[in-house]
Amino acid sequence: MESQTQPRLVACVRCGKVHYAITRAEAQRLVDDFNQYLETLSEAQRVNRYGPQRANVSSYERCRHCGAAAEVRPTKPEDGTAGETVGPILAKSSPITNYPI
Ligand SMILES: [Zn+2]
Repeated sequence: MESQTQPRLVACVRCGKVHYAITRAEAQRLVDDFNQYLETLSEAQRVNRYGPQRANVSSYERCRHCGAAAEVRPTKPEDGTAGETVGPILAKSSPITNYPI
């Protein structure tokens, strides 16, 4: 499908941090995978490393840098991501080619 080959880089409208846009289904899959991993840890390991809460989809609905609600814009050349980890974001809508979110 063409939409899967489109670049999905977006930037937070508030702080400009670049993320890659994911769908709700992709966010749910990440949550499920991470929570399955948590099940392999002891309670002490889990709490020490990740805190008392399980992963949830709502954690992807905010910018991972500034914490603002996931409102995004297309990236600009000056946004740059060199040397940075680009994390996922579940945006309310995508500014890129009507990518279905
Ligand atoms: Zn931000």
